[in-house]
Amino acid sequence: MDVAVVTVGDELLAGETENTNATWLCRRLTERGARVRRVVTLPDDEAAIARVVNEFHAEYDATVVTGGLGPTHDDRTMAGVAVAFGRELAHSEVAEEWLVEHGGYSAGDLVDGTADVPAGARVLHNVEGVAPGAVVESTYVLPGVPAEMRAMFEDVAGEFDGERTYVETVFAAEPESALVDRFERVQTEFDVAVGSYPGDGVRIRVSGPDEAEVDAAVAWLRERVDGGEE
Ligand code: ATP
Ligand code: MG
Repeated sequence: MDVAVVTVGDELLAGETENTNATWLCRRLTERGARVRRVVTLPDDEAAIARVVNEFHAEYDATVVTGGLGPTHDDRTMAGVAVAFGRELAHSEVAEEWLVEHGGYSAGDLVDGTADVPAGARVLHNVEGVAPGAVVESTYVLPGVPAEMRAMFEDVAGEFDGERTYVETVFAAEPESALVDRFERVQTEFDVAVGSYPGDGVRIRVSGPDEAEVDAAVAWLRERVDGGEE
């Protein structure tokens, strides 16, 4: 299952808030076997959100959008997602009833727009905060506050899956450029993908859908690279 992640917020683009939601979502989606193919950060801008969500809906099996929920003027995400699917924003009775029952609000206390989601969306309840999330077709809209986003993601985590990827790493105390021939050969001989991450030495990441094949490729590499003093 190929997934895109969209994080929304002017403060992310200005570097004021570290985008921990993107990293966390990528890790959780990957753990579940989904393949994250895109991570995009957008301003709080309805047209920009609509355009990207529309494009990703056509391209990927699912899209996870976080940030910019809630009823304040700079929260444009629900409106953008509604436009992407050609729907109106509509008051959700389901969301309001849940907030009254579990959030301790009376219907009259809720700021106008708090329970608005794209018409016909499945509502996701916010057990850590107020703003509800929503699912429109295969686009999941979650809050930006990390604790709220995580709790809501876990409620739908079972809807993200895919073939598991096995990963192992090999350390090489050699310059990356010297390893190129062995990277090519290991990928020819085994059904694995190889990534290399230079730092102090090179960390070689070997991954693939078949655990035995990954193990065999790792053993092959260990015999042929200088592992240094370990
Ligand atoms: P609320 O439910 O409070 O309305 P929201 O969806 O409107 O949440 P935002 O207004 O986008 O969320 O962000 C609320 C706070 O969450 C921000 O001030 C920021 O601290 C944090 N936040 C938002 N996006 C991210 C992100 N991608 N990574 C980490 N923190 C984030
Ligand atoms: Mg907000």
